[in-house]
This record gives sequence, C-alpha cells and structure tokens, in this order.
Amino acid sequence: MTYYKPAYRSGSLEIICGPMFSGKSEELMRRLRRSKIARQNVLTFKHRLDDRHSTEQLVSHDGNCLDAQPLMDPAVIQELGLKSDVHVIGIDEVQFFPLSIVSAICALVAAGKRVIVAGLNLDFRCVPFGPMPTLLAIADSITKLSAICSICGNEGHFTQRLVDGKPAHFDDHIIMVGAQEAYQARCRTCYKIDKMATL
Ligand code: ADP
Ligand code: ZN
Repeated sequence: MTYYKPAYRSGSLEIICGPMFSGKSEELMRRLRRSKIARQNVLTFKHRLDDRHSTEQLVSHDGNCLDAQPLMDPAVIQELGLKSDVHVIGIDEVQFFPLSIVSAICALVAAGKRVIVAGLNLDFRCVPFGPMPTLLAIADSITKLSAICSICGNEGHFTQRLVDGKPAHFDDHIIMVGAQEAYQARCRTCYKIDKMATL
C-alpha cells in the first residue's frame, strides 16, 4: 500500500468567529502566545479601521493585549507573512478587510504558514460579514464562540447595535456621524432589528 507522506510543514487556516464580546481576541491571543512559547516566529496584524490613529496592539474587552501591526492592505500581510522565517500569522478583525484577504491568506497557507484569524461572522444586521463566508468555507478549523446575552444571560450569538439607546435599523449606515452608538451581545430572542436579512 502507498502512503502519502505529509509535507514537512503544511499550512493551515484556523478561524475564530462569533459576536462581539465572545472572546475572539482572547482566543487569538492565547493561540499566538502558545506559538511563541513553542519558539515559533509569530507576526500579528489587525485591521486599521481609521487611518489617523490606531494602537499597535490587539486589546480584548478584558484589557489583555498583544503587540500587533495595524494595516488595511492584504497585500502587505501576504508580503510580510511570506518571509521564510515566519511560521505563524495572526489577524484580528479580519471581517473588515477587502475580499483580497482571501487570496493573501491562501498564498500564506500554500507556503506552509499557520494562519489564525479572528472576526465577526455576522454584522449588526445579521448579514454575513465581508470576506467571512469565503474564509469559513476554506478553513481547516473553525471555532465559533458565543457571548452572554446582556438582556437574559443565555448564550448570545448576535451583535445588537444600539443608536441613542434604541435598537438600530436594518438600513442604518455602518458609521453614524453624531449618533451615540453601542453594541451588546444578545441571544436570538432578545436581538432586535426591524427586518430580517435576506441572503
Ligand atoms: P471579542 O474579541 O469577541 O469582542 P474579547 O476577547 O475582546 O471578545 O473579550 C471577551 C471578554 O469580554 C470576556 O472574557 C468577558 O470578560 C468580557 N465580556 C464583556 N461583556 C460580555 C458578554 N456579554 N459576554 C461575554 N463576555 C463579555
Ligand atoms: Zn437573551
């Protein structure tokens, strides 16, 4: 019988997804810290939402942090990650990147890199977020986390957006100038929106 010999170092894509407050950043940081303990060379990126200021760290809602390079262009992640001494690439807030993040990640995985990404699978309207559906389809492993519903205490899988204290409307803009926005984790029963997403 012929056995396939595994490649010396095969690449992989791991996805950590879920709503806000579900512990995605914490789990990403945990895996990256363990990689460093295993003496792997780790590069960490996060999306630079705002061109003007962005901290050079991943920060969880619990206040844990890890150094990370903020950027917007997937081509830079590909270029830096492909360097031969890099073993592990972590990316937080991956849902904000353009669809070209998919080919950048595929190139890294094909080159034998371990890529670990964290991101929201759904936006505040419950619509699949940006490149996440494609990334989830090609992932080697998926960890779907839940938060605690801030209304009833059950498992919460959704991100509720509040504008001036009231549930946001489906057609609200992603960025609302002048409005006081907030986000909560909610369960299916407590999540409120004025119309359902049609896929
Ligand atoms: P994410 O990256 O998914 O937004 P973080 O890793 O930044 O999540 O933060 C997770 C932490 O947030 C939890 O360990 C907990 O201390 C805190 N937290 C605050 N609100 C909630 C909630 N509603 N459900 C679960 N954890 C919460
Ligand atoms: Zn609830």
